[in-house]
Amino acid sequence: MTTRKVCVAITARASYSRVRSALCAIQNDRRLELQIVAAASSVLDRYGNAVKFIQQDGFPVHARIFNIVEGENLVTSAKSTGLGLVEMATVLANLEPDMVVTIADRYETIATSIAAAYMNIPLVHLQGGEITGSIDEKVRHANTKLADIHFVCSTRARDRVIRMGECPERVFVTGCPSIDLADEILKDPTPEADPFRRFGGVGPELDLSSGYLIVLQHPVTTEYESARGQAWETLRAIAELDMPTLWFWPNVDAGSDGTSNALRSFRELHNPRNIHFFKHVDSLQFLRLAYHSRAIVGNSSVAIRECSYLGVPAVNIGTRQQGRDRGSNVIDVEHHQSEIVRAVRSHIRHGRFASDPLYGDGQSGRRIADLLATVPLSIDKTLYEGEVLPEAARGRTSARQAA
Ligand code: UDP
Repeated sequence: MTTRKVCVAITARASYSRVRSALCAIQNDRRLELQIVAAASSVLDRYGNAVKFIQQDGFPVHARIFNIVEGENLVTSAKSTGLGLVEMATVLANLEPDMVVTIADRYETIATSIAAAYMNIPLVHLQGGEITGSIDEKVRHANTKLADIHFVCSTRARDRVIRMGECPERVFVTGCPSIDLADEILKDPTPEADPFRRFGGVGPELDLSSGYLIVLQHPVTTEYESARGQAWETLRAIAELDMPTLWFWPNVDAGSDGTSNALRSFRELHNPRNIHFFKHVDSLQFLRLAYHSRAIVGNSSVAIRECSYLGVPAVNIGTRQQGRDRGSNVIDVEHHQSEIVRAVRSHIRHGRFASDPLYGDGQSGRRIADLLATVPLSIDKTLYEGEVLPEAARGRTSARQAA
């Protein structure tokens, strides 16, 4: 039996939690051989060192690429992507995969797509056809155009990918593998006993027994100069709410220096007694903490994707997630202290929401591995100019309904 070599490029903690269940399924499938390349912020301690968790979970790491240029600004984003492209070409030449998997829309993911496309290696893209703000919006759709096979999260996303000229036979609704992890949490919601001892971090050890908030806020690359002020509004809102809060450090996007600067300055000036800061926790533990929170606040996609499945109330701030399909667990607000406070209080009065399978049904990893083993591989592409299939045009449908 010939096995297909599948090379998965992981460039950040978000990419790892968004592919982890698919990695398990690939590893357990005898028709496939898994190759992992860890790159960009996934190999940096400052951004959570996701590669450590990848190895702890028992996955092989075939190559590490150190391509993040210091500065966290617009220039370094472009340079880091360029370095990523140069290094990725060498790694792919050495590994000789039968296909390459790139995940979602982070700025550096396009390096993987360009390298694979120029090297005539079939490219599989996860999470195409979605809509957001920030540079992610352009990068996601550019990845779609470079990819040969698409695994999307909903039929609505599939419609959009086909409307971008991708051939319907190559666009599959698999759901998002991150929902597989959320599904594990729903099946075993045992709370984390002592997150402070277990995950370290900075700040007081808080009493979480009467409820707490989670905050995860990133810079918006297209509003790069506002990152510090935007974080400051959220910090003031959290201080006013005076609830125990677990605050997670931002990712490496342009402007994250501004966000981090706000966190440090606020800590020094106000010494908030209700906030504990974490750099990164393992993806299952993170979702477990989110599941038991009263609300998640900020602009991370986790509030919209995994938290819609978990039914966790979410306050989504600003434009970073604008246009992303969302469930009823999300209240959208501007970067403004009083709006944030009002939305959190309203959510706390409401409590948990019903689980929504908008982004998947908990079975994505298995579906993805099966398709990787069987889908015809080709690098020939022509623009599809036909109709979007009628069943895909019916509006919102979950992966479960589409399967
Ligand atoms: N995440 C994690 N550990 C953490 C923080 C986040 O595993 O300490 C996961 C989270 O479950 C989600 C993803 O990372 O799947 C979201 O990350 P982030 O907010 O960085 O990314 P976004 O998708 O908003 O760019």
